[in-house]
Order: sequence, then structure tokens, then C-alpha cells
Amino acid sequence: MTTRGREVLERVRAGEVLVFDGGYGTMLFAAGLANGGCPELWNDTHAEIVQGIHKGYFDAGSQIVETNTFGGSRLKLDEYKLGERTRELNAKGARLARAVAPRDTYIAGSIGPTSRLPRDYALDAGVTDEEYVATFREQAEALAEGGVDLFAVETMMFPQEATAAVRACKQVADVPVMATMFFQYEELHDRDRTMWGESPADVAASLLAAGADVVGMNCGRGPDRAIVIIREMRKVTDAPLVAYPNAGLPITKGDTVTYELGPEAMARDYPALLDAGCNIVGACCGSNPEHIRLIAKVVRAERRPRGLGDARREASL
Ligand SMILES: [Zn+2]
Repeated sequence: MTTRGREVLERVRAGEVLVFDGGYGTMLFAAGLANGGCPELWNDTHAEIVQGIHKGYFDAGSQIVETNTFGGSRLKLDEYKLGERTRELNAKGARLARAVAPRDTYIAGSIGPTSRLPRDYALDAGVTDEEYVATFREQAEALAEGGVDLFAVETMMFPQEATAAVRACKQVADVPVMATMFFQYEELHDRDRTMWGESPADVAASLLAAGADVVGMNCGRGPDRAIVIIREMRKVTDAPLVAYPNAGLPITKGDTVTYELGPEAMARDYPALLDAGCNIVGACCGSNPEHIRLIAKVVRAERRPRGLGDARREASL
């Protein structure tokens, strides 16, 4: 495994909690990305804006920042007729983030869903496992070429697509893979499930079996549900866990979308998220650098022994 990739895993296994970053979508829209525009194209056309967002998160205390390549698979870029630029846009995205990364921080190559359904569930021809693996391999290769330290397979809805993405990453580069899925809170049953009905324990098991090094949740609802989901995953695995939930639910008023939780309200849930056993924490839709600044503050304040390394250090004191 690459030195920097191994370092991420060693740090969390030694009990350190690492701070991930926050949302990109709302910040890109605020900077002028048109509705229906391709965010990944901005790695070429608006490089300084994308870089400014990365820098904002590093300045706020993020130790891992992800690339602006969430929709960078060829299957997704094809929607914008940009499939031919897959390699270029992903490699550029990785280099943009790399160029502003301070010492002792890491770049995660973001890999989101293709928006295309698996063959058995699609109304059109759908996507086979082999096609998923091929499209994610191409993206992961380009991200690795641009110098990412780990991969962030994220916001996945379908188990087949998620595990194909994890396997593809593992095939192309020897760097850690974080894999997270989107959970819905089912109020009626008071439980969290993926769109396909998997429980947090199911998800942890299937993503780890596919080869993921860090598993967890992102997007979905707010930190209140992240706490429950992480607690359930922690019951079934000792693997490093990650959570970067949305800043609560979106509130739509006319043309504008805001989110329930401001920075203070969101950060208030993070001590419990750390207690649940989460090793890497950040935020997703509706969050900005101020959310991350307060989350990083909680992480620094709540630092306490968790991993083996700490237990050993404690014993020797
Ligand atoms: Zn999100």
C-alpha cells in the first residue's frame, strides 16, 4: 500500500479521529454553477474556484479533503456528453486538490453513483456488474494518476454498484478505500435502511467483504441518524468507520434550498458520534467550512483513547 494511504489507516487504528470535509454542491452553485451544469467540468474551466473550496476546508480543519469528481464516471459524464473526457477531468480534479493540501493531510478521490440502475432493476437495458466495474476502474485509474491517497466511494444507493466500485478501486491502485452508502430513515419502523432495504450491519459486512478498508454512511439525513447507524455498524465490526451526514433535511422555499442544521446545531451531535465509535467524521449536503470548523473543534476537544495504540500508551503512563 502507498505510504500515505497506509498512514491514514494507521492513524485511525491508533485511536486518532480524522476530520473529513463538507459539501461541494451548494458551494459550486453559489459560485455560479448552472442548474444542469456538470460540476466535474469545473475542474477544467473554473479550477481556481474548485481549489478555493478545497482550501476553505483545509483551513477549517479538514485532514482529508475529497476531489470534485463525484460524478466523474464515464457512465455519469455521458449524460453531459463528456464521457470522452473522463480521464482528464478526474486526473485534473485530483491534481487541484493535491496542489493545495497542507502537510499531514490527505486527498480522497470521490467516486459517486453512475445514476444508472443495475440490470435487474432498470427499465432500460441497465448496467451489468462488469460494466460497473469497468466504468469505476477507468475513473479510479485517473484519480490514482492524479495522486489521490485514498478513494471515497460514496452516496451509493445500490449494493451491487457500491461493491463493484470498491472492487474496481482495489484492482487499480493499492490505496485504502472508504465506502459509504446513503441510508433513509424509515420513521414508521424507526430504523435506517438503504434504498434497497439493507441494514447498517448488512452494509458494513458487504462493503468490507468487497475489500473496503473504511465503511460507513454519508449524505442521507442528519447526524442524529449517523449516530445510530455507526453504533449498529460498530456492533458488527472493528474496522475503521466514517460518517459524513447532511446538515439535516433540505428545506425548499421557492427556488432556494436551505438545510435544517447550522454549524452549531450540527456540531452538537458529534460528541455522540465519536462515542458511537466513528473514526473519520465530516459533513455532506448543506454544510460549509464553518460546519467543519466546529466539527474539528469537537474532535480536538473530545479526543480520548479509543484504539489499541492509545490503550497501550495509557498503560505505560
Ligand atoms: Zn449529501
